[in-house]
Parts: sequence; C-alpha cells; structure tokens
Amino acid sequence: MTESYEIIDHSYDVVVVGAGGAGLRATFGLAEAGLKTACITKVFPTRSHTVAAQGGVSAALGNMGPDDWRWHMYDTVKGSDWLGDQDSIEYMVREAVPAIVELEHYGVPFSRTEDGKIYQRPFGGMTTKFGEGPAAQRTCAAADRTGHAMLHTLYQQAIKHNAEFYIEYFAIDLIMDDEGTCRGVLAWNLDDGTLHRFAAKQVVLATGGYGRVFFSATSAHTCTGDGGGMVLRAGLPLQDSEFVQFHPTGIYGAGCLITEGVRGEGGYLTNSEGERFMERYAPSAKDLASRDVVSRSMTIEIREGRGVGANKDHIHLHLEHLPPEVIHERLPGIAETAKIFAGVDVTKEPIPVLPTCHYNMGGIQTNYHGEVVTLKDGDPNSIVPGLMAAGEAACVSVHGANRLGSNSLLDLVVFGRSVALRCAETVDPNAKTRPLDKDAGEQSIARLDRLRHAKGSTPTAELRARMQNTMQNNCAVFRTGEVLDEGVKKMQEVWQGLDDIRVSDRSMVWNSDLVETLEFENLIGNAMVTIVGAANRTESRGAHAREDYPDRNDDEWMKHTLAWCDDKGAVKLDYRPVTMKPMSNDVQAFPPKARVY
Ligand SMILES: Cc1cc2nc3c(=O)[nH]c(=O)nc-3n(C[C@H](O)[C@H](O)[C@H](O)COP(=O)(O)OP(=O)(O)OC[C@H]3O[C@@H](n4cnc5c(N)ncnc54)[C@H](O)[C@@H]3O)c2cc1C
Repeated sequence: MTESYEIIDHSYDVVVVGAGGAGLRATFGLAEAGLKTACITKVFPTRSHTVAAQGGVSAALGNMGPDDWRWHMYDTVKGSDWLGDQDSIEYMVREAVPAIVELEHYGVPFSRTEDGKIYQRPFGGMTTKFGEGPAAQRTCAAADRTGHAMLHTLYQQAIKHNAEFYIEYFAIDLIMDDEGTCRGVLAWNLDDGTLHRFAAKQVVLATGGYGRVFFSATSAHTCTGDGGGMVLRAGLPLQDSEFVQFHPTGIYGAGCLITEGVRGEGGYLTNSEGERFMERYAPSAKDLASRDVVSRSMTIEIREGRGVGANKDHIHLHLEHLPPEVIHERLPGIAETAKIFAGVDVTKEPIPVLPTCHYNMGGIQTNYHGEVVTLKDGDPNSIVPGLMAAGEAACVSVHGANRLGSNSLLDLVVFGRSVALRCAETVDPNAKTRPLDKDAGEQSIARLDRLRHAKGSTPTAELRARMQNTMQNNCAVFRTGEVLDEGVKKMQEVWQGLDDIRVSDRSMVWNSDLVETLEFENLIGNAMVTIVGAANRTESRGAHAREDYPDRNDDEWMKHTLAWCDDKGAVKLDYRPVTMKPMSNDVQAFPPKARVY
C-alpha cells in the first residue's frame, strides 16, 4: 500500500496540529523554548475559526473596577454547573492575568481605556464578590474583532521564533505504537498529493471544535473535529461530548450568528401561523428569555409542525417593524449579514433562523498541563505518552457543562501556553527523536486509499446531510429519552451508510471530495459519542437539558462521561469523578449549589 504513495519523512521535537489560537500559542511558545517545532494546518493559519471570535477574552485584570481571579474562578465553576474541574479552572483564571499581559506585549491591539489600560467589557455570567456583587467588567476586547487581532499577533510571533509551518496539509491520523505511545502524525499535502510522516517526541492536537456535526453551526465549515476523530481511532476516549452550547438565532442554512442584541432592540420570533409563540413559553421575558429557553421553544414549534419555509424547519426573526434608523445605527452588521447570507432586506422581511451549535464543551481529555490522559488500570488520569491537546478540541475540563462567553479565547492562550511550558520541562531538544518504523501509518494510508477509491452509491455530502439533520432534530436543544434513542438508531443507520459511500474524485491534488470524506469520518465519531452520551445522561446540567429529567442530579451524575467509539460506531461509556480540589491552597473548593442567575 505505502509503495503507491510518495511518502516524505520528517523529524521534530514537537508537532502541533492546528494553527488557531490554541495551536499558534503552543507553537510559538515551543519554538521560543528552543524546541524544533512544526505546525501543521489544513487552512492558512489566520483563516482558522478563532478569527471569527468577536466579543473578547476574559481575565481578572481589574482595569475597569475591582476584580479578583477568585471571583472569576467562582463564576466559571458555577457556569460549568459544577462539572468543571476546579484545579484546572484555578489554573486558567490565575494564569489569565500573565497570559493577557503577555499578549499585550506581543502586540495584540486591545481597545484602551481613557488612561491607556486594556479595555474590558461585561459579559454574561461574569460577576464580582462570588456572585454577590455587581457584574464584572472582565472581558478584554480589541473592538469587535478580538479573535482576529489575537490570531494575527500569534502568527507573527510564531514566524518570529522560526517555527516551521506546513500549511494546507491535512493531518489524517496519529501514529501510535503498540505500547500506546504517540510517536507522530501522518499528513497529506493537499497541494501536491504527497504524504508526510512526522516523527515527534510530542504531538499536540489543537484542531478546534466539531460544530459541523449539526445542520446549523456558527463555526467554520472546517470545524469537523478531526482531532477527536484521530483520538477515537487511536482507541482513546472523548470526554463530556454530550455538552454542546446552542445559540437561538443562527441564520437558517448558513449558521452565521445573529446577536441577541437584535431581540434586545425589539426583534421578535414567529412561527408558520405568524404567532409570537414566545409569549406562550415565557410570558414575561418573551423573546428575551435565556438562550436555552428560547432555543427549546423554537425547537418545539418546529417539531410540532409550526416551522416556516418549504420544509417547515425554521423560524422567522422580525426586525422590519423597527425604524430603519435604529437598524442602521445599532445593527448595521446584522443587516449586512442577513443580506449576504439569507438574501433578506431586514427592513422589509424576516430573517430565517434556527437554534445553532455554537461551542463544544467536550473533547480530548487532558490535565491542565495539556497532557492527554485516559482511564487505564483504574486510574482516570493516566497520561498518554507523547500526546497533548489544547483549545476547543480539548476538554481540560474548565467549561464543564456550559462555557461562559469569553472563557474560550482564554482557554486557548492559557492552555496553548501551558503545553509549551510543559514541553520546555519534559522534552529534551538534544535527545534524538526516535525514527518511525518503516510501516508506520500503513493502516491509515490503507484507510485513505479505500476512501479515495470508494465506489458506493451514496455521495459523502448526502450521508453528511443525514447525520447533520439527525443531530439537529434529535440531539440539539430539545432532548428526551425517546427523541435521543430514536436519534441513536438513526445515527447507527448513517454509520452503516459508510459502507456504501461514494467518492468521485480519485486525484491526490486538491481533492476536496476526499478531504470532506475524511472530515466526515471524523465528524461521525464525534456525533456518535455526543448522542450516545446525551441519551445516557439522565439529568439536566448546563447545556444538556432533558425534558424528562429536568433537574441536576449530583448524587448520580456529578461525573465526567468518557466515551470510546469503535470502527463499527459502537460506543462504550465509563466515567471519571469531577476534581473538586483546587490546584493550590490559596482558595477553597466551591461546593455545588443551584445555578440561578
Ligand atoms: C462565530 C464565533 C464567535 C466566537 N466568539 C467568541 C468570543 O468572543 N470569545 C470567546 O472566548 N470565544 C468565542 N468563540 C469560541 C472560540 O472562538 C473558539 O472556541 C476558538 O476560537 C477555537 O480555537 P482553536 O484554536 O481551538 O481552534 P480553531 O481556531 O478552530 O483552529 C483549528 C485549527 O486546526 C486546524 N486543523 C483542524 N483539523 C486539521 C487537520 N485534520 N489537519 C490539519 N489541521 C487541522 C485548522 O486548520 C485550524 O488551524 C466564538 C466562536 C465562534 C464560532
């Protein structure tokens, strides 16, 4: 098999897969520490999804009023609905302060206060005095393009420190040895069709989220959970995948975010009968009820046949009653987005919207050094040698059952940085990287070859659409045992469809059909552990809201889900206790209580 492909071997101290915020922060820190570092990315670094983040990045700098990392810690624990690990959360919020100051010194053009400090804005769930004080102004912003500013600065730093980039290379699989040590990664150069085997002392997965498992997602089309897919194929589990954050108003089809501010300005939702249905579900707050309530109500309307459009599968968001000057002054970006992505003039017609996947709390299980850990011989924190992960692909777990806005950009820089710090301690740049065996990656090349020549009758796009519709209808915001069990069955049928998949393009150069098929195999693994985990978790916690189990059940469910998925789509589940003990003695654990705002 390997003979029919041109294979080029490389050797590095560390190889990072992914050039979003997490991957770039790790990459330049590694290069800065004197480690020979490669960064592999399937898209140009500054086109990673991090570029789309607008709101900002949290850190208790206290530039706009009193703040304290302990308050940030409390808010994050509470936001996680007590599923977050308190050692990792303490690490993140404490390191937030030096990590943001560093970013400033590296050149991130943060917005400024009158006296020249980093500007900070309030964000949901961020409070002072352990929830007793006023809202905290904790979210550092570079106007409304914080992710863009961060990504460009981090890329510049990586170049400055001579990290080596392999751009538009698609990582196919990890190279694992028989002892379960990660020895490197196999990648495909999309531009010339060659295959590349990277030997490394550490491989860092920073491949981002898997929003594209759902029909509607605010994330880029490239957010296909490739790291999670690789990890599942390596026989390792993913953690807490059932926790997915949804936003009520993504543009139907395109998924682009329509901010809550639209409803704040007086926008409202209607069903196919023209009814303002939120009045029934939330008589006082109506269209401004919390995100999960609005999302669930919309889904019930659609499920009961009152959706709009030819397929009755979405909802209308109205702004046309608002004075045009309000729209042009306060919501110009929205008017433009709706025009481009829905072809709608918001002064004349409603925007088609749908609850939309916004963030994946679950992912590759790591400790706060970024080392991938797994359950082995009864130890749930057993380190997988040679493998690390950071960013949305990872589950440290700092977000638990629900992420607070602006804590993700923070997660990227803090844990990207901690990966670099850890490697500086553990990886010896003078030691020789063990060369790979001659047949390393052979199975993965065989998988690639099989898909490249797949002659079934179902095009990848069709199978992917079936998966996305199933996940959207059966595993989004409206979750009951019945709906989820039906979804699991449907997903098993989609999985069987893999045997009949068709790839039309056989080339190795810019074969987007094959790329999408590899991505689909990654997506479906993530989808499977998500829906099986959701069906299994008979409680409501954070973003996982079950109509049939409306309460949080700490006695039975204050534990992390670990899910393995084999090549037939069969999922095996186990659990890991939540770490309640903080990292240091400077702060006490926050015991669980009701999460009310
Ligand atoms: C519209 C939007 C707005 C947001 N706003 C905010 C906000 O204001 N504040 C906040 O805190 N969070 C926000 N978030 C969340 C946050 O932006 C993301 O969680 C975060 O950017 C993810 O970063 P990452 O580095 O983990 O991955 P990404 O930025 O998604 O990058 C993934 C990288 O992995 C590479 N990759 C993936 N698979 C492969 C493969 N097989 N081979 C090679 N390379 C691969 C890609 O090329 C890319 O470089 C927002 C998210 C969205 C979608």
